[in-house]
Amino acid sequence: MCCGKGDKGENRRISNNEFRIRKGDGTMLKITNIAQSYRGSADEVVAVRDVSLAVNGGEFVAVQGPSGCGKTTLLLICGALLAPDSGTATVEGTDLYALPADARARFRAQHIGFVFQQFHLIPYLNVRDNVLAGALATGAPLPATRAEELIGRFGLAGRIQHLPSELSMGERQRVALARALLNQPGLVLADEPTGNLDEASGDVVLTALADYARAGGAVLMVTHDPRAGRIASRTLSMRAGRLA
Ligand code: ADP
Ligand code: MG
Repeated sequence: MCCGKGDKGENRRISNNEFRIRKGDGTMLKITNIAQSYRGSADEVVAVRDVSLAVNGGEFVAVQGPSGCGKTTLLLICGALLAPDSGTATVEGTDLYALPADARARFRAQHIGFVFQQFHLIPYLNVRDNVLAGALATGAPLPATRAEELIGRFGLAGRIQHLPSELSMGERQRVALARALLNQPGLVLADEPTGNLDEASGDVVLTALADYARAGGAVLMVTHDPRAGRIASRTLSMRAGRLA
């Protein structure tokens, strides 16, 4: 689970300066009576059962639960990546699944940032271009200055030309964070973002997410990480597709 040696010396605190969020309060995410099942060749699996949740700007909500309880499915639905069987999901007042697919992709790029356990960086792009990739789907000019500012904030200025394979796990996740925050999204979704990191690198990621919420963003993280309960403003538990 831990990536070990390569991350030595990375325990740098992210500055607690403003992250600059477009809008700072109100309900950023609202999901109502969401349900989702998977029907493959095998039996039907009910992944999410009648879940409702609202997350405001300034809040950092952590959802903890065992493997298989539906956390990733819930996050994909909140992130405009998976239309639920039933229920509604709105982000900054927009009903995600009422949008046609192309408008939904653009909306996602502008309003939602994602951080994944496996980073999902593009292997043949350097740090700078991986961060800028976060803006490709917005249709706006690429925000080079903001990208460089975030790269600096996350302590990666000396790595800007490096490929992901030349970075430690902690550095890779900081690139993914910079990409997620590039467009100043109102909502940041994080799926086990510390799952592949040593403790110090994990702390950096959790602190950055908490800072983003303090600056006015809404953060929803799903995780096994016991530290989440200490840093999040609200902790919920998920069991067999239900939130409590
Ligand atoms: P978690 O992230 O909490 O581990 P998931 O949302 O990934 O949970 O999965 C919830 C349940 O749905 C699990 O039982 C899983 O096996 C099942 N599941 C997830 N994705 C699929 C899929 N694409 N097809 C069929 N079943 C799936
Ligand atoms: Mg998962």
